[in-house]
Formats: sequence, C-alpha cells, structure tokens
Amino acid sequence: MSWRQRFRKLFAPPNEERFSRRSYWVRVRCQRCGEILSARVDLQNDLSFDYGSQEYRVHKVIVGSGENRCFQRIEVQMRFDKQKRLVDIDVHGGEEVKTPIA
Ligand SMILES: [Zn+2]
Repeated sequence: MSWRQRFRKLFAPPNEERFSRRSYWVRVRCQRCGEILSARVDLQNDLSFDYGSQEYRVHKVIVGSGENRCFQRIEVQMRFDKQKRLVDIDVHGGEEVKTPIA
C-alpha cells in the first residue's frame, strides 16, 4: 500500500456517508458581471475515471442566466479521488465561491 492510499484510507468517510452523497454543488462568481451561479455535479453519472492518475475528472461549463446581459462561459475542471471527494478545482472565467457543503 502506498503512502497515498494509506493517507486516503485514514481519512475515508464511513460507508453510509460515502454512498449517500450523490451530488456535489459547485458555486462560481462570474468575473465579468459578478453573478453567482451554481451547477450540480452528479457523482454517479458526470465523473469519468482517469486510469493514469487514478482519479475522477469532470468538466462543467456554466453560462450566466442572462439577467445581467452577460453570457460569459465559466469553465470548471474538477478532480475527485476514488472516494469521490473533491481534490482540486480550477475555474476559468470566474472564481469559486466557497460555501459549506449542505
Ligand atoms: Zn457574467
């Protein structure tokens, strides 16, 4: 077992928590107009597994509601570990709005 696997095992949530969490909500603020937008990541269907890095990846494109006459495309790249917990998030066209996970 590598140190990475050991580290993950140490912090792995209990089974019931792991399997009940079906979705991850990401919130971003548009860098052009400041509108806050959210998108749902379906942890069962949206993620694709990358065998090289042994992680899940997802790419989301969020477009403004148009309320501010702004149609900026906000691109979000996320990486999740094998337990589908967020490892890294990269936002282009805006910034992540951090909120506690409900
Ligand atoms: Zn905008």
